[in-house]
Amino acid sequence: MHMEKETLLEIQDLTIQYCMHNRTVRAVNGVSLKIQKGETLGLVGETGAGKTTIALGILRLLQEPPAKIAGGRILYEGNDILKLPHHELRKIRGNKISMIFQDPMTALNPIDTVGEQIMEGILLHEKLSKKDAYRKACETLEMVGIPAERYHDYPHQFSGGMKQRIVIAMALVCRPELLLADEPTTALDVTIQAQVLDMITRIREELGTSMLLITHDLGVIADMCDRVAVIYAGRIVESGATEQIFNHTSHPYTVGLFGAIPTLDMTEDRLVPIDGLMPDPANLPDGCKFCPRCKKKMAVCEEREPDLSEIAPGHLVRCHLFAKNPPKDPPAADGQDSGKEGE
Ligand code: SF4
Repeated sequence: MHMEKETLLEIQDLTIQYCMHNRTVRAVNGVSLKIQKGETLGLVGETGAGKTTIALGILRLLQEPPAKIAGGRILYEGNDILKLPHHELRKIRGNKISMIFQDPMTALNPIDTVGEQIMEGILLHEKLSKKDAYRKACETLEMVGIPAERYHDYPHQFSGGMKQRIVIAMALVCRPELLLADEPTTALDVTIQAQVLDMITRIREELGTSMLLITHDLGVIADMCDRVAVIYAGRIVESGATEQIFNHTSHPYTVGLFGAIPTLDMTEDRLVPIDGLMPDPANLPDGCKFCPRCKKKMAVCEEREPDLSEIAPGHLVRCHLFAKNPPKDPPAADGQDSGKEGE
């Protein structure tokens, strides 16, 4: 049964552009998302779909210019983050909402000890003595599986997986309500990835932290997420509970994503990639943004962008095939699965 929980963060109609000399890159185009208390929302899509821009936008970490938040609201505890003065924003960043970046090498300062870097967040946000802050930093190191004695070591003395654990400790040290995890294990070996993901899940459950998990890996989504939003060319094209997205995959793009990953029981010799490339975000098509690559496209798809339709409680799809009053126009090509829910 679909139960509405308390909303922690709500993004409404967010539009972010990068304005260069002679072109405007439309990176995020009217994205709306809700993250509820205690849940993990997976944001999945190809590189360049706008996932990281959304996360950086939430914390207002985008470099403006060239980035420009052209519209929308990001509501956290009833306040629009986009309107907060900088001193208010600093109270939220790293304290209430924190971020794990993809590459631990760029997130750590090579000339400070890892303990000092973890303690920095505590001293900035919490009124603790240095002694208590030191104790909390050591506890947090232990929480991510690193002995407290290594507080005084420098980043270069750790392996890649250990460095990412330290970055996670930095993100969690103030016990944030919301964690933005941007491809947190992409830079790691596969075996280490699994360990780090297990650790994030365990700590998140212990602390009750909500999470926005950005990934292109549907396996990670299946293991860790309560709900999923699929993004394409800066637009949410499908969203719903994880089981809805996996068991009733509907949007032709999401169907394509599933066709491009191997499964243990697959009988085909080859994976089926999605033909073509994502459109140039400085020159997006007028109608459905997936139209140039879609095997189900109809004439109307080029002319009119579909709205999101709710095809089951909480399951939204942006495709004319699923519109309440679908256009009467037969598919132009065959090939891909029907894309109809439940088939
Ligand atoms: Fe394909 Fe048309 Fe649906 Fe876009 S709206 S995904 S082009 S069928």
